[in-house]
Amino acid sequence: MCIAVRAVKSQGARLKKCLLVAVIFAVASGHTLLLGQGHGQNEEKRALPGRTEKVRTERYEIDVRFEPERGFLHAKATVTLRASQFVEAIEFELNSRLQILEVTDAQGRKLEFTRSGRIGSPKLLVRLIEPCGAEQDVTLTFVYEGVFPPHPMDYITKDGILLRDESRWYPAVDISAFTQNKILISVPSRWSAIASGRMLSSIGYGLGASFTWETEQPVSSRSILVVPRITEGHQCSPQPVQEQGFQRISMGSACADGLAEDIGSKIAAKVYNVLEFYKRSIAQFTFSVLRINRAFPGQKGAIGYSAPAFMVVGEDVVKWHDHADYAPEFLPHEVAHQWFPIEVAIAREEDGWLAESVAEYLAWRYLQEKNPVAARTMVARAMQDAPVLYPDRPLALGLHLFREGNEAAYPVLYQRGMLVWRTLETVIGRERVDASLRDYYKRFAGRPASIADFRKICEEISGRDLAWFFEYYINGTQIPEISVRRTAASAPNEFTGEILLTNVPSEFQARVEMRLETASGPVNHSVATRGEVTPFTVTVPGPVQRVVVDPDLRILRWTEVARRNRMQKVLVTKAAEAESNGKLTEARAALAKALTKDPDNVTQNGQQIRFVLGQVEHRRGKRDEAAANFRLAVALTSLAPMETDFYRAWAHVYLARIAMQRSDIATAKRETRAGLALKAPALETPVRWPGEAWERTAVQELQRLAQ
Ligand SMILES: [Zn+2]
Repeated sequence: MCIAVRAVKSQGARLKKCLLVAVIFAVASGHTLLLGQGHGQNEEKRALPGRTEKVRTERYEIDVRFEPERGFLHAKATVTLRASQFVEAIEFELNSRLQILEVTDAQGRKLEFTRSGRIGSPKLLVRLIEPCGAEQDVTLTFVYEGVFPPHPMDYITKDGILLRDESRWYPAVDISAFTQNKILISVPSRWSAIASGRMLSSIGYGLGASFTWETEQPVSSRSILVVPRITEGHQCSPQPVQEQGFQRISMGSACADGLAEDIGSKIAAKVYNVLEFYKRSIAQFTFSVLRINRAFPGQKGAIGYSAPAFMVVGEDVVKWHDHADYAPEFLPHEVAHQWFPIEVAIAREEDGWLAESVAEYLAWRYLQEKNPVAARTMVARAMQDAPVLYPDRPLALGLHLFREGNEAAYPVLYQRGMLVWRTLETVIGRERVDASLRDYYKRFAGRPASIADFRKICEEISGRDLAWFFEYYINGTQIPEISVRRTAASAPNEFTGEILLTNVPSEFQARVEMRLETASGPVNHSVATRGEVTPFTVTVPGPVQRVVVDPDLRILRWTEVARRNRMQKVLVTKAAEAESNGKLTEARAALAKALTKDPDNVTQNGQQIRFVLGQVEHRRGKRDEAAANFRLAVALTSLAPMETDFYRAWAHVYLARIAMQRSDIATAKRETRAGLALKAPALETPVRWPGEAWERTAVQELQRLAQ
């Protein structure tokens, strides 16, 4: 969403275990700034082979040694595959920067292999000496090494190592295959290493150390994390029980590693809370412990990645763990991935609605119970943006959306996808959505599944044909409009009307709520609609003054707020273009017009528009006009608290600058103090504003001005 109000973007990661990096786009500059929530990942993920693949991976034994200073790894990976039909050659993927020293079979015979001729392609074909028949096992051993190409999400550096499946650090037929793994990781002394499963052994030897991890059940990942420290801190929630000299950690605990005791305890408690919520709503967490570690050294924003039984979060997530407004859906979203798609993998990239959208929906469900204000904000934001941003991209694109960057993936897959889950509640009822999710998990845990599989379960549980719902909301891009038309009442204490739906197929059926406002209070009523026109009659205590359709925004549909948002976004984008071309008068006119499109500021875009208008006036040398707009930016709020803080802090910066230009030291001091007093995460979001040479944070600017 590269326009107006807020956009989310991120650096790489993939679906499976998503990453969150939030970014809002500085309106006027087109520059991105990291803010808070939002989810990222974008890396191309190979289409999963599904059920027609010739070979299935069963087991890995990997012995990997790292030289972090050089970014180097040396590995020997033995992979066991089962053929489902006659095969003579097997196609693998392995990062193209890794040099293969040899490939051998179970008898130790060297095998021929061919790397793809395409630059950067990880593809690799290994020829077997004897063809393998159906239901036979093939065991191949790869020896390879190399300096790993740097990537924000996969790195081998002196500050730590994270290698996700998507990095293709080991040879794979299917990076989401469920396999039993034994991974031995050798690192410098005082470093430690984590993989999925349980630690079998850890050995220190002179300058080195090694850690062996083994899975207790097949898992959908071979990701590993190495941290440059002995994990000194280890805080679990619930507290481990002391038992005859050792600590017993109860099943389904959350443990934070390598964090200061108070921070680790708080984060572990938060994650445990989320685990308990999903245990109640979906199923018991299958691993004994969910470990949380810090990763992504030096990277800004709410970044995270989930692998089976462990997750990593960025430094900002740790730093702002106590700040309620900092990406509140981040942890619940990441933890939801432990169920979807870590346990129930998705069959194809097109099924991404069952990975990212469901995680976002579950995060919203969690917030609805624990932090209703944040839950409402999440929905309001999505209802305002989702119809407007990338409206022609269907959810059926799934993870392919990440190819267009998070600007497309976030509003479609996260926001619109989450709203479609909520809409499903109005079609079959929340209890049946819950029952369907539980059943889906029960039937498919440990293997891949598709949207068609989920639809079948919903149909069984609801006894309804839901083809229209999935066709309309997943494959289609239309969004309904819902309104109420009053018809002649037959009695004075009755309200008679029709619910009108447009842009819907004749099979469209949903429960539409409405609030009828009367002098003696509101009357809530809900109607099960069918097709475009559904008549209804409600008994009311007096004349109805106003009807509010779908007051809790349960259905993904066009709203007045979304419509105004769309008009404003067009104008704000136009202003940004004009400003970047130095056409300040034109920019000013577009911004002024944007304000008229929403005179009562229902979109809450006003704060941002006032701020940008202030910048434009400031660049035009109009100090009074600039100051007036910045003062309004301080007074107004945006839809999310992080954005409110962001614009407020920067408005204080500009007000202080203007005061300095007028040699009004007292005002300048007051403004910098007011800005610094905000103490919010958004003050540390780096941004480069138009016409400025440097990227800076508000707190840096405020401190500089305070001197
Ligand atoms: Zn995710």
